[in-house]
Amino acid sequence: MPSAKFEIKRKCKECGATFIAKTLESYYCSRTCTLRAYNKRKTERKKRNQMDAIVSKIPDGRDYISVTEAEAMFGISAKTIRRMIRSGKIPAINIGQRLTRVCKSALLERVPLRDEPLDRTKPLPKLYHLEPEDCYTIGEISKTYGIDDSTVYAHIRKYSIPTRQIGNFVYAPKEDIDHRRTRQTLWSRPCRC
Ligand SMILES: [Zn+2]
Repeated sequence: MPSAKFEIKRKCKECGATFIAKTLESYYCSRTCTLRAYNKRKTERKKRNQMDAIVSKIPDGRDYISVTEAEAMFGISAKTIRRMIRSGKIPAINIGQRLTRVCKSALLERVPLRDEPLDRTKPLPKLYHLEPEDCYTIGEISKTYGIDDSTVYAHIRKYSIPTRQIGNFVYAPKEDIDHRRTRQTLWSRPCRC
């Protein structure tokens, strides 16, 4: 794995803590979080396989399916299915205690088939251009807004803006500093020059 030539501050994809990524491919703050994420993926895969097995056994011609089959087919919870039944959105029949059958064709009209993992993974972290030409130094920012460096750092921390240190300079992406939110917050500070 290529090691990063500069500091990359990231949020751990598992616990959300900020950490210094050792390599470009480090997404977790610790071994514990790496392992936890791996186990989650494994459980998720197993669950999907089980659901696929249930779906494969539903005969095409049968229109009334069990709640378990509906869960597997559409990736929605039994609770949601029962709520739809109660509100009259989908027809259901009761063939005995705990033996509810729901109308497959009615569900097909309303709910998309399950195709994505149940626990949708969070979107990938935004990629930043942290080359010096795409960045301002902290000094440049404080000069532009007439504020001190610590105010700039406070803002950077507040909005988790990534930074990169090269030599004595700390860089922050222009894109984030020129953002409307940043401009509003920093301009509203009293000038301390
Ligand atoms: Zn973590």
